[in-house]
Amino acid sequence: MENITASEVAGLGVGTLLLCATFAAPKVDAFISASQRSSLGLCKKCGNLKMIACSKCKGVGLVKGGPFGFNIDDDLYQLLGGGLKMQSIECTKCRAKGHFRCPDCSEIAGDDLSRTM
Ligand SMILES: [Zn+2]
Ligand SMILES: [Zn+2]
Repeated sequence: MENITASEVAGLGVGTLLLCATFAAPKVDAFISASQRSSLGLCKKCGNLKMIACSKCKGVGLVKGGPFGFNIDDDLYQLLGGGLKMQSIECTKCRAKGHFRCPDCSEIAGDDLSRTM
């Protein structure tokens, strides 16, 4: 590998890095924030909140239940003029809690502390 100069290697490295950054900018961003969290001693997944918000009900614990038995998002609800009787039903995904315990650190701060090893 003596025919490749150090500057060429560096250039190749930077080029590859830029290429990766271009294609995977969001992932890089997530990676950086995750590494920042870990460097701060925080949980990578939840940032030491010990919980993760439910994606279905957005942490509310309730979802809008329409007369058709499925969830209608807000835009469609507005489109319909809000005339339909909407009722909030318990989110089945998180069982109305609105969040899940973080799988990464739930052992430390779970609901059932007595069950810790
Ligand atoms: Zn966590
Ligand atoms: Zn939920």
